[in-house]
Amino acid sequence: MAKKPAKGAKFEYAPAPESRDIARLKPSYQPYINGQFRDGTGEAVKTINPADETPLAEVGEAGEKDVDDAVAAAREAADGVWGRMSGAERGKYLFRIARAIAERGRELAVIETLDNGKPIKESRDVDVPLASAHFFYYAGWADKLGYAGFGPNPQPLGVAGQVIPWNFPLLMAAWKIAPALATGNTVVLKPAETTPLSALVLAEIIAEADLPPGVVNILPGGPSVGQAIVDRAASGAIDKIAFTGSTDVGKLIQRTLAGSSARLSLELGGKAANIVFDDAPLDQAVEGIVNGIYFNQGQVCCAGSRLLVQESIQDELIQKLKRRLGTLRVGDPMDKNTDVGAINSAGQLAKIRELAESGEAEGATRWAPECALPTKGFFFAPTLFTGVSQAHRIAREEIFGPVLSVLSFRTPGEAIEKANNTPYGLSAGVWTEKGSRILSMANQLRAGVVWANTFNRFDPTSPFGGYKESGFGREGGRHGLEAYLAH
Ligand code: NAD
Repeated sequence: MAKKPAKGAKFEYAPAPESRDIARLKPSYQPYINGQFRDGTGEAVKTINPADETPLAEVGEAGEKDVDDAVAAAREAADGVWGRMSGAERGKYLFRIARAIAERGRELAVIETLDNGKPIKESRDVDVPLASAHFFYYAGWADKLGYAGFGPNPQPLGVAGQVIPWNFPLLMAAWKIAPALATGNTVVLKPAETTPLSALVLAEIIAEADLPPGVVNILPGGPSVGQAIVDRAASGAIDKIAFTGSTDVGKLIQRTLAGSSARLSLELGGKAANIVFDDAPLDQAVEGIVNGIYFNQGQVCCAGSRLLVQESIQDELIQKLKRRLGTLRVGDPMDKNTDVGAINSAGQLAKIRELAESGEAEGATRWAPECALPTKGFFFAPTLFTGVSQAHRIAREEIFGPVLSVLSFRTPGEAIEKANNTPYGLSAGVWTEKGSRILSMANQLRAGVVWANTFNRFDPTSPFGGYKESGFGREGGRHGLEAYLAH
């Protein structure tokens, strides 16, 4: 009979690794242009597994000529077969893609985890099902656009250039491609340089779904490829840019497109406040705080990176939180029991380390549970800072890592002032038993999404997007259609 663990001791877990073979990785991947995979005219680079720094595959990046060819193919499809197709027909393609993502779900989840470093349970249970759900949702809109509230016969913009980050590679591709196709646009999409694989497998799915050539083009590459796509929009060859990434690059893109007729939507950074009142169910709040900042190693634009806790419950909450952090399993992302996986790149790890060190240097108190980190790969222990003031860099700057800054407040008014004291405005969380307080806080918080007694809940039917330096435009829901319709 198994021995009962001593009180307070952690359960022992046997390793439970998902099989890497499920990924069916190929030695090399190519850009997808005009319905064909073909050698890119850019460099060939190796994409690595951030959990052990070993190469996964070689990826041929796109060059300037590929961007021109992709844009020309997308234009031909927008003016021709795709632009003329009925919404009901377009919807069938979207349904087909949604089903194929679900069918190849395990493979996509393993690929995502290998390329990104996120725990397999997250890519399996969150990223991939949500990506599929996004296509399902927008498939349903394709033949109902006249009832979406944008006029009786809304028209597509034409060609959309889309640039996405590395933190939810497949999901961000779905957020971008599904509404664009549903509304009759064609797409030139660039995945992030460190996570190109799942978008290229999505290209295989799109090819197998028999989407007409040129409707979706996928161009792996770095910032120069993103810049080239934006330049094509500035010169009028692309009608719309949809960008998700850092605020700095978002500003650069906005400057490049100033004065052009290209439409733009930006989903940028965040520094969300997760606000816990003294009447909140504390155990539930602890789960929400953990999910808010340690999900995907904190590499989430809407992460609840600032915990605002009412002073009277601060000690109790921090104690509970520390106890819970002690149970998080950090390590091999392919292990089904892992809660916190690898940071996506050496560069991102260096950025997190630098900001955490600034927290200590500026006088905040750093705490992390005892946990043995793997010796290879990019890992950072889940970390908590108390004694944080609003002036500290860790309270102001987006860390994009598993680091929580704790601040306190006494009154709802003070909580609002502190929560809104940021250039960002993407999301916020409120924990309280009082419905009226939830509504009043939600009215006053300058954040695109406000979660009540939960955090990081996503659904394709619900719009997502920011205020202020977190960007503009909405993705998801009926609102997400607007970004791709002429008006
Ligand atoms: P990043 O801005 O450096 O890169 C994002 C994408 O833009 C990548 O594909 C990159 O190659 C490309 N890019 C870089 N420079 C470019 C340029 N000059 N022109 C065109 N494209 C360019 O950001 P990152 O470090 O990859 O991602 C992390 C950031 O993204 C964080 O700040 C995070 O908050 C933000 N983000 C926001 C959301 C959201 O929905 N609001 C979602 C995920 C990530």
